[in-house]
Amino acid sequence: MEGVLEMADLLLKGGSLIDGTGAPARPGTSVLVSGDRIAAVGPEAERAASEPGATVEVVDVSGLTVMPGLIDAHCHVTLGEPASNDELFHHREPAFSALLAAFNVGKILRAGVTSFVDVDGIHDIGVALRDAIAAGMVEGPTMRSGGYALMTAVGGTAGRMIPDEGTAGYAEVVRSKDEMVRATRRQIKNGADLIKIHATGNIPSRRGESQVWTLEELKVVCDTAHDLGVPVVAHCRGSDCTRDAANAGVDVIYHASYMDDDALQAIIDNGASLCPVFTFLANLAEHGAKAGATSTAQDVFRGEMEQTGAMVKRAFDAGVPVFCGSESGFSITPYGHWHHREMEVFVEQLGMTPLQAIMCCTKNGAVAMGEVGEVGTIEPGLRADVLVLDGDPVADIGVLGDRSRFRHLLLRGTPVDLSRPWPERRPVPGERVVAWSAVPLTWDLVHP
Ligand SMILES: [Zn+2]
Repeated sequence: MEGVLEMADLLLKGGSLIDGTGAPARPGTSVLVSGDRIAAVGPEAERAASEPGATVEVVDVSGLTVMPGLIDAHCHVTLGEPASNDELFHHREPAFSALLAAFNVGKILRAGVTSFVDVDGIHDIGVALRDAIAAGMVEGPTMRSGGYALMTAVGGTAGRMIPDEGTAGYAEVVRSKDEMVRATRRQIKNGADLIKIHATGNIPSRRGESQVWTLEELKVVCDTAHDLGVPVVAHCRGSDCTRDAANAGVDVIYHASYMDDDALQAIIDNGASLCPVFTFLANLAEHGAKAGATSTAQDVFRGEMEQTGAMVKRAFDAGVPVFCGSESGFSITPYGHWHHREMEVFVEQLGMTPLQAIMCCTKNGAVAMGEVGEVGTIEPGLRADVLVLDGDPVADIGVLGDRSRFRHLLLRGTPVDLSRPWPERRPVPGERVVAWSAVPLTWDLVHP
């Protein structure tokens, strides 16, 4: 926050700097922070700090890594970690959800995330939370927020829970092109930073997701939003849908599952960005059993990560901005735990170097935030969002998930208190759906 309190400048002295641009780490590189900005880097930082009359607090960070705060391009901060669609669609009250979201941004922040995009959510809470953070009422990362996700009546991943009209959960159903225009303008009036479309959806009797928006319908939303200077993002599971979304003008494609050559070319031709959001799938496939996940889709997910991952790497090599998104907000992706995980997947499955993966989660994240030149790298003039940790992410990208290694975190130039863990909370009555049993209690079960 500017101008509230005059703070001394801060010199992070002698750390190993990973600046977020993809350049190799520079050992022994100091960073000078003044107010909410990075003032200088390297010898210039030390020279400015030693000028006569300079009031500078010096923090010795030699032996530590200094890097930009992480930028998570795909979160759902208002969902409250539901374990099922039933919970998400029927057991989330507006007032409690807002309070819970304000609590949960503290967890996201303490995972080293200093900016995030909340792509869609429930009860229009996201925009209000973004404003409360910006106003200094709630401590949290800088936030960009969508509103409800626009869906045709066949949309989303919740099957028949999506109603034929109105809103439910994170969905706003638009039944015609007129309603698409109206909903887009209403969301923008309410303050949405982006419009999210669920371009594919789940029909319970079919495998996978089907494209449930026409090219023309996608264009209606893109044209309406773009006229008002607002980007459009789309959930696309399926190659034809990815191609159509890119051709319609969608700015960020999420998932892009099973993208083929035509879809990749459409992304390149139209200047779209890509955010595959593998983390949810990777967690479910690799660790789900530890949390008692009963999904049988593990192999499907592994296949999707392999095939789609290879295409995302080709997109990255062709210069398409690729973002890291964690899908944080579900029981498989709780807040504050997995914001680094996409980088692990990029290294292990896509064959990116750790520095490339870090760039996707820092410099490229600025594209997702609509803040290129403002955040995402450690360079003079940029916002002072800085993470200092004991560990080398170039040797092991996984250290970015180990919060016990974090030594300092600057959020807009202000140190975040890392001295105590964020408090755990108890569940609130009515919040969780409890099943009566895992299987039907038949007579035969009782009489084996
Ligand atoms: Zn999502």
